[in-house]
Amino acid sequence: MSTENIELLEKRKAQVHDGKGAFEMACEKASVAGSVSQRACSFCGSRVVLYPIADALHIVHGPIGCAAYTWDIRGALSSGPNLHRLSFSTDMQEQDVVYGGEKKLAAAIRELAKAYVPKAVFVYATCIVGVIGDDVKAVCKSAEAELGTPIIPVDSEGFKGSKKAGYHAACDALMNHLVGTGDISDVKPHSINILGDFNLAGEIWMIEDYYKKMGVDVVCRITGDGRVEDIRKMHGAALNVVQCSGSVTRLAEMIKQKYGIPYIRVSYFGIEDMSRSLYDVAEVFKDDPTIMERAKALVASEVKRIMPELMRMKKDLEGKRAAIYTGGAFKVFSLVRSLRTIGMKSVVAGSQTGTREDYQQLHELCDEGAVLLDDTNPDELAKFVLEKDVDLFIGGVKERPIAYKLGVAFCDHNHERKIALAGFEGLVNFAKEVHASVMSPVWKFVPRRANPKPKEHTAPRSMPIGCTPAMCMSCTSSTCGGGS
Ligand code: SF4
Repeated sequence: MSTENIELLEKRKAQVHDGKGAFEMACEKASVAGSVSQRACSFCGSRVVLYPIADALHIVHGPIGCAAYTWDIRGALSSGPNLHRLSFSTDMQEQDVVYGGEKKLAAAIRELAKAYVPKAVFVYATCIVGVIGDDVKAVCKSAEAELGTPIIPVDSEGFKGSKKAGYHAACDALMNHLVGTGDISDVKPHSINILGDFNLAGEIWMIEDYYKKMGVDVVCRITGDGRVEDIRKMHGAALNVVQCSGSVTRLAEMIKQKYGIPYIRVSYFGIEDMSRSLYDVAEVFKDDPTIMERAKALVASEVKRIMPELMRMKKDLEGKRAAIYTGGAFKVFSLVRSLRTIGMKSVVAGSQTGTREDYQQLHELCDEGAVLLDDTNPDELAKFVLEKDVDLFIGGVKERPIAYKLGVAFCDHNHERKIALAGFEGLVNFAKEVHASVMSPVWKFVPRRANPKPKEHTAPRSMPIGCTPAMCMSCTSSTCGGGS
């Protein structure tokens, strides 16, 4: 398998750092036409953030194709209601496009709200709705007055920008319609909101348990295992703890502006970042020193518990090489650190929505010579995965086929996973998955391993005793000096 024919597009070159020379990278730009970006549309971004609110009804106003993005693709878990697992669409047809889809939308909201009695209804605008100019806000407003339930329009027309524009639309919808509308008289002083975890495999329950053990209360989860009533009173918490920075920092920032509630950025992946997430919260509540004491005791006992197993796997994984590509950049930092804990190097790293500061930090964190990619595409990923000869690719649903086609072990750290990878226990799960995948004997038989690259020399001058020129030309030994 060769990368010789894979050329970077001229307009993409500034968003790629090839690991050589001074560090300089462009980012936060619209995707280059023709580059087949790994990014999703704005509608997808909004859906990612809001969909896990489990007692709300989610209606996609658009053609049925947009509604393909359902719970089955990103299965956020709920400890109670499961309304979010149903996917509703107005299924716009040609006539709706010509004459408008407002009546159809109003009828859908009315019918569904009566059938399911949700705590709120989110109505997502898709591309065609923006093109034909349906007044989604007006329909929602009139339905809310009629039904007495919050009916929340989400300005998520797919063409508005990247997935990040959709994140912003979701945050705006929450801020403008729910946050600050609940009674906060029962909220305790040492309390937080957990923002930016989507509870794909029960992570939010693990994290909440850690905070509770420290003596810190959780008011609201945005949005994994989310509830409308909790979002209404999240302005009562003393601190917002933001994990997925790309998706929900805007909400934390707006709450800070309006209610004066500070926020911190955290990550729950890997020993260092998980511990830091607990210590940073304890720091904010230093009026009660027992919170920090309990945090330290918890970290000490968890690290002691998981270390022997991690070290056992590290023996096999030492020196193996990984490529990482995720939606937000903050997760990449944790993954680089987690891989280092189990002996692996990160040689390719990138994200869909990283900022200049993110990439600078990533450049400092990654191993020497690592390739960094902003808003990349399948061609570039294939090129660098092969050139850096990685043993593992960590990504999501769109990166999985790239890895398998190239014959590279893969670890899903995104939508489709069913195993919790956050917290201390999550790091053990992550290491087990990486170990099982990287150490599988199957990779010996994939084309790039079964037919390794021919050695660079083609004209042997001297050969070890017993070798012939014909043997030398097809030999794969990397130790004999290539006959030179
Ligand atoms: S780009 Fe537009 S049409 Fe495609 S899924 Fe997104 S909203 Fe729907």
